[in-house]
Amino acid sequence: MSEPLHIAVLGTGIMGAAMARNLARAGHRVTAWNRSGDKAAPLAADGIAVAGTPAEAVADADAILTMLYDGPAVQEVVAQAAPALRPGVRWIQSTTAGLDGAAALAALAAEHGLVYFDAPVLGTRAPAEAGQLTVLAAGPADDPVANAVFDAVGAKTVWTGPDGADASASRLKLVANSWVLVLTHGIGEVLALAKGLGVDPQGFYDLIQGGPLDAGYAHAKGALILDGSTDQASFGLDTALKDTRLIIAAAEAGGVRLDLAEAGAERFRRASAQGHGDEDMAATYFASFDE
Ligand code: NAP
Repeated sequence: MSEPLHIAVLGTGIMGAAMARNLARAGHRVTAWNRSGDKAAPLAADGIAVAGTPAEAVADADAILTMLYDGPAVQEVVAQAAPALRPGVRWIQSTTAGLDGAAALAALAAEHGLVYFDAPVLGTRAPAEAGQLTVLAAGPADDPVANAVFDAVGAKTVWTGPDGADASASRLKLVANSWVLVLTHGIGEVLALAKGLGVDPQGFYDLIQGGPLDAGYAHAKGALILDGSTDQASFGLDTALKDTRLIIAAAEAGGVRLDLAEAGAERFRRASAQGHGDEDMAATYFASFDE
């Protein structure tokens, strides 16, 4: 990009704040808004303008990036921003919204004449902070504005189709997330079982190390459990429960039965009821014990 862009970031939680910082680092003018102002205020130190309302944030923006909790939250916030949006503005929708959510958001974009990109991301807090996300994108792939945004927040963009309204990127995201969630519950249960059987977890790690049973997630999520640091959330447990429900709904619509996702939802629900909802999803571990 020769010209810096003006990009409005709506939602500065774990992921949105990191993405806003990387857009600013890439030389773009960034305006951010968050429902709870205290999470957006620190971004001012990174040269990011903090807006008081969604409409104020998107005024004169070339592109808006939504990174909120779920589809209904995005719908609500973009409806508030709508009076200040010009037709032709690019809307990069990165919230994990599920298939019904993505369809509703694409319809909202069409209503306001926005160029819509279904653009969920793979990667969690650390890759988001490092600008190393993988962006899954559906929409016009030659769009220079969208590509400038993706280049600033990600290491790689995987284009899945030419029309954001088809939600092909969201479909791939749900498939990938189902794998992430199975791995997370898997290591949670392995470490709970090891504890119950009096097995040193290191013995398990030594067995799988470097072989076909090894997985980065077994180490990353396992470390949070073993260090007692599940309160350091990269991917919040309640957010992971929301994503599990989106996967189950999409599977049902596609005529597919997912027993592991159902069981995973129950583990997250139980851990959340125990008070672990704001912790990392690795806290699925606690669902194996009565607390
Ligand atoms: P987060 O830290 O919990 O942030 C959620 C954001 O949504 C906050 O800015 C929150 O505002 C806002 N929000 C929630 N409900 C709202 C509402 N009704 N109206 C306005 N704003 C609302 O979550 P995150 O981890 O950044 O995740 C954001 C999205 O990315 C989710 O869809 C998640 O599934 C997806 N995702 C997450 C990861 C990850 O590893 N963390 C990876 C890939 C994708 P407040 O601050 O006011 O609560």
